[in-house]
Amino acid sequence: MTRIAVVGAGMGGLAFAAAMRGSDHEVTLYEQAHEIGELGAGISLWANGTRLFEEMGIAELMAAKSCETEAAYFRNEDGSVAAEQSLARDNWYRDAYSYPYYGALRTDLQASLLEVLGTDNIRLAKQLITIEDTAEGAVLHWADGTSDTADLVVGADGIKSVVRKFVDPDARPVFTGNSAFRGLAKTEELDLLPEPRSFTDWMGDGMHVLNFPVGPDFKHTTIVVFVDGPEQWEHEEWRVPADAEAVRALFDDWDPAVGQLLEHVTLSERWGLFQVSLMDSWHRGRCVLIGDAAHGMLPHHGQGAISSFEDAIALAHVMKDDGIATIDAKLAAYEGERKARGERIQKSSRDLNACLHLPEGPQRDKRAVVLNALPENFSWLHEYVCSV
Ligand SMILES: Cc1cc2nc3c(=O)[nH]c(=O)nc-3n(C[C@H](O)[C@H](O)[C@H](O)COP(=O)(O)OP(=O)(O)OC[C@H]3O[C@@H](n4cnc5c(N)ncnc54)[C@H](O)[C@@H]3O)c2cc1C
Repeated sequence: MTRIAVVGAGMGGLAFAAAMRGSDHEVTLYEQAHEIGELGAGISLWANGTRLFEEMGIAELMAAKSCETEAAYFRNEDGSVAAEQSLARDNWYRDAYSYPYYGALRTDLQASLLEVLGTDNIRLAKQLITIEDTAEGAVLHWADGTSDTADLVVGADGIKSVVRKFVDPDARPVFTGNSAFRGLAKTEELDLLPEPRSFTDWMGDGMHVLNFPVGPDFKHTTIVVFVDGPEQWEHEEWRVPADAEAVRALFDDWDPAVGQLLEHVTLSERWGLFQVSLMDSWHRGRCVLIGDAAHGMLPHHGQGAISSFEDAIALAHVMKDDGIATIDAKLAAYEGERKARGERIQKSSRDLNACLHLPEGPQRDKRAVVLNALPENFSWLHEYVCSV
């Protein structure tokens, strides 16, 4: 039996614990928060995530709590359609990738994971300060002055990971030069929305606005506004106050449907968007990284949480595989499966920013060709199957 300490009970940590249910390893989750809460925003769950739900024990729960979005529309700032892709319409997405695309509330995803896991193995108010590698195991020192010892530490502690400082002291979150504003609305309040059951992305020079329905019956809509800038992020926190009227004015000439969406977004709170610098390895000694701690990325593909699920499942598979004898060999197998893919998604998400923020001009015609051929260009994201 291996004593596994998972630092962070966010998306990746909960998914790993769920995938380890029934194994003979002892898995304990340590979370710095005093209660497990989540900001009430929505989440896009593509087939490479939903195909893992059975193994995580949440397939039925999430089927009841999600909607299957009809299509994805890419529009210019005046509302004209630049590109379009069917999703649930004509069953296109399930036929292409065998699993559904869901729009869901993050709170529902988290609640489903907690429902299958229970809370017995979750220790709250445990903030990791440092890790010490000793002959008896990795010793985790907590902010409350206590410590615990484990045979394996899973760093699922997000973009500002403390475990990562042990694995690679030079790695860090790097500001991408982009920021975001978020909101959630009742779909019935958005009478200007051209396609309330679809995902819509309005793209303009240096910024884009998206919305997608979430939850059963399409009752809610998640809204995210992305803008280039500021050039530097001068703050310790990653959510800071913003001048709401100045942000709103940027969209004055856009499709009136966007103006209506903005009424439901907290424009007075700007989220800085970071990505994690590349590392030589995602593991060192008894410590390994998953999720944002390893490959924190821009959210433009809607793949951050899903790729933490992919990591969690791959790590659970190697941990349960008796054919791989040592922790070192297990972590090497995990890294072999996951690192190149995690870095590819991270890079593609970064590249997508320039594509979504093009100024007017002939480049936009080329973009329309790319976006109208989503399966050809992006199936590699959706069809991934873990091979360890
Ligand atoms: C605007 C925006 C929109 C997004 N939309 C999507 C989307 O549609 N689809 C998608 O898949 N992803 C999306 N993402 C990305 C997604 O939210 C993250 O990639 C995902 O939550 C990463 O999971 P994680 O488990 O690695 O980290 P997190 O979910 O951030 O969890 C980390 C946990 O570790 C805890 N922790 C941190 N430090 C310590 C410590 N020292 N000690 C103990 N505990 C600690 C934290 O409290 C937290 O609970 C979006 C992100 C943003 C910013």
